[in-house]
Amino acid sequence: MNNIPILFSKEEIEDCVHKLGKEISRDYLGKNPLFVGVLKGSFVFMADLLRSVDIPCSMDFMAVSSYSGVKSTGSVKINKDLSEDIASRHIIIVEDILDSGLTLTYLKRLLQARGAASVKVITLLEKEVDHAIKPDYCGFRCNDFVVGYGLDYNERYRNLPYIGVFNPEAQKETLNGVNGILD
Ligand code: 5GP
Ligand code: MG
Repeated sequence: MNNIPILFSKEEIEDCVHKLGKEISRDYLGKNPLFVGVLKGSFVFMADLLRSVDIPCSMDFMAVSSYSGVKSTGSVKINKDLSEDIASRHIIIVEDILDSGLTLTYLKRLLQARGAASVKVITLLEKEVDHAIKPDYCGFRCNDFVVGYGLDYNERYRNLPYIGVFNPEAQKETLNGVNGILD
């Protein structure tokens, strides 16, 4: 068990993701969009979102990481690229959470440069700060460092079915407990 307090419950997320899926289905009718999930954080959101989309579409994933030291330029390293040509495709980048927006700005430009017909961004969460990019679709706004529903803290908590607030101090006891058992 953990003691991560709930910020957005399983039911609230379900309802929100369902509405986003329906909105995208209306906006992209006849466009056969390609959903591009940004690994790893978006994998749960992507799976639920796609099951709420009721128009023909396809999906792929990309994995990227920021080059250390040059974050301000928004340069990212591509660790896993798309497996298909995206020329003339309508792309929807699926992200877990938008913070500075530097990663998404870079990705959007990259996919536009590859000849996509359009590139839009959906993010489940948006931090209430100034971003380099505005999402076209957004689920929730938050200020805290959150985990769960795909989002991690040092690779943990991705499997929580809800979105919770991570407080390192409060988690120390739990983490020690887990280590104790594993040791
Ligand atoms: P950006 O390029 O927008 O600054 O970076 C966004 C990325 O930072 C997200 O995809 C996510 O990996 C990470 N991130 C930002 N805020 C949070 C947060 O509150 N919780 C978690 N788990 N990751 C975050
Ligand atoms: Mg991410």
